[in-house]
Amino acid sequence: MTSVRIDHAVSSGTFSLDGETHDVENNIWVIGNDDECVVIDAPHSVEDILAVVGGRQVKAIIATHAHDDHVGVAPALRERVTAPILMHPDDRPLWELTHTDHLWDVDLEDGQTISIGGAAIKVLHTPGHAPGAVCLYVHDLGCVFTGDTLFQGGPGATGRSYSDEDVIKKSIRGTLFALPDETVVHTGHGEDTTIGAEKQNL
Ligand SMILES: [Zn+2]
Repeated sequence: MTSVRIDHAVSSGTFSLDGETHDVENNIWVIGNDDECVVIDAPHSVEDILAVVGGRQVKAIIATHAHDDHVGVAPALRERVTAPILMHPDDRPLWELTHTDHLWDVDLEDGQTISIGGAAIKVLHTPGHAPGAVCLYVHDLGCVFTGDTLFQGGPGATGRSYSDEDVIKKSIRGTLFALPDETVVHTGHGEDTTIGAEKQNL
């Protein structure tokens, strides 16, 4: 079996909520080996994502949360790769703002493990930026994918609908800061950081 690795690209588009639209760049993260992979978030462009997948079998499309810049092309990607969309059900109201004629396939649960290429991805429910926001911890790779819950420089935004600043801080302190300090943080937008570095920024 080939070893598991992370592949990455950046995709450009827009984020809309509460009647405002902003230009954004989203990270595309793909975890897998030479044969199979999972895609974390589906922003903006199916072609951008397929370029990172590179012909491997996609086993799942995992949404860190249901803002439109993270799930906008999830149903279209699902059509192309025939893989289920996994999302925490608490993000249903946000999902329904983006997709009125498609649902996701499988509910994510706090503490569950998703296997890919011999590696285990642990789902951590980290509400605050969105009620169903999750982070994905991969102990074997020493990293966590935080979506918009934790960035280089601090917590994700909580100024818009369905967000809560106290809740996100509780999620970061209680759940993410329990991970080893050296854990690399792969974010939904922008540069990587580490758990230890972000303890200085909360
Ligand atoms: Zn977001």
